[in-house]
Amino acid sequence: MALDPETFDALIDTVRRFVAERLRPLEAEVEAADAIPDAVIAAMKDMGLFGLSIADEFGGLGLNMIEECRVAIEMGRTTPAFRSTFGTNVGIGSQGLVMAGTPEQKAEWLPRIASGEIVTSFALTEPDVGSDSGSVKTRAVRDGDVYRLSGTKRYITNADKAQLFTVMARTGEEKGARGVSAFLVPKDLPGVTIGEPEKKMGQKGAKVADVHFDDVPVPAANRLGAEGEGFKIAMRVLDRGRLHISAVCVGVAERLIADSVAYAGGRHQFGQPIAAHQLIQGMIADMKTEALVARAMVLETAAAKDRGEDVVLESAAAKYFASEMVGRVADKAVQIYGGAGYIADYGIERLYRDVRLFRIYEGTSQIQQVIIARETMKRGG
Ligand SMILES: Cc1cc2nc3c(=O)[nH]c(=O)nc-3n(C[C@H](O)[C@H](O)[C@H](O)COP(=O)(O)OP(=O)(O)OC[C@H]3O[C@@H](n4cnc5c(N)ncnc54)[C@H](O)[C@@H]3O)c2cc1C
Repeated sequence: MALDPETFDALIDTVRRFVAERLRPLEAEVEAADAIPDAVIAAMKDMGLFGLSIADEFGGLGLNMIEECRVAIEMGRTTPAFRSTFGTNVGIGSQGLVMAGTPEQKAEWLPRIASGEIVTSFALTEPDVGSDSGSVKTRAVRDGDVYRLSGTKRYITNADKAQLFTVMARTGEEKGARGVSAFLVPKDLPGVTIGEPEKKMGQKGAKVADVHFDDVPVPAANRLGAEGEGFKIAMRVLDRGRLHISAVCVGVAERLIADSVAYAGGRHQFGQPIAAHQLIQGMIADMKTEALVARAMVLETAAAKDRGEDVVLESAAAKYFASEMVGRVADKAVQIYGGAGYIADYGIERLYRDVRLFRIYEGTSQIQQVIIARETMKRGG
């Protein structure tokens, strides 16, 4: 599915103006308050941002992957916490349902997810289970028409606001990934409790918290896919999510490059703008080159995904390269700003902290390397 080019161009233009005129002026305020203003969330709902990836029959905008990535690049040009506000509804929180939900499950939940009426979260990580995500310990034991769900999920994005969780839990006796199933778990079921939001390094305004399940009676009708398919669903969701995150990395890098060029043009040392010094130009050239490479990887992989190709390797490679790239770009931006790069007022140190997360969540860089190597060897090169 794709929008007609005129409608899509209008959407991109609206998002670009929203970022430049509404969101960027609020960056320092969001950092200080560690919260996104309600008026911004309402505006995001009006623009349809919560339903970017959800089909129009459920009230979403029905973007294809390349369109979604282009919106994510635009959203990357401001503090990433703004995107996180609707990011789980567009990505990891909703896509298990989109990919594996029954018509009844979709009809019940997707319209409210697309409109932003409810927030969804994706709950895979646990206190003892991170990169080795197939070894989840949270259990769901069949008991008549329900599964009794018990366990703790950790660092769950938007858990503080979510009304619906996609939870991966062990249903079978089989060890490892094959014993894992996925469930839609409404927050209002008895036995669901949310921990206090964690204090984090960056991305202030986006919250993560523990989610505890204590003998929660989850209707069997809320299982996504068959028993034992949960890990496969989670991996498909993450393949897609990785591309979206890569696109955000490209957007943040482009923002940092534009800021660095502007600063270097206005700051004078040794009688000329620092932009005239070739060592500064070298940093700008490296930043731009890397950002262009990442942009090309993201858009090419998104196009391949839209053609229905297997992009497990390419999505992992895009996430690996783009998240590492934006870290290097942020580091050089701090260097170009000199002392100002270390001072909060200029906002560069904030983005430097914000982008650190991209190398960690939705699979660390090491896990991307593991996937890339495995898939490359599978393909024989
Ligand atoms: C802000 C934030 C938001 C998050 N949001 C969510 C969310 O919404 N839902 C969710 O389910 N999870 C979420 N997570 C969890 C995140 O996905 C995990 O933190 C991440 O997958 C890494 O797991 P871990 O922290 O347990 O690290 P570990 O798995 O303990 O890894 C520690 C180190 O060991 C390395 N390592 C592990 N295995 C290997 C290996 N085989 N080879 C080489 N190196 C290896 C890792 O790369 C890392 O460097 C979030 C985390 C954060 C910080």
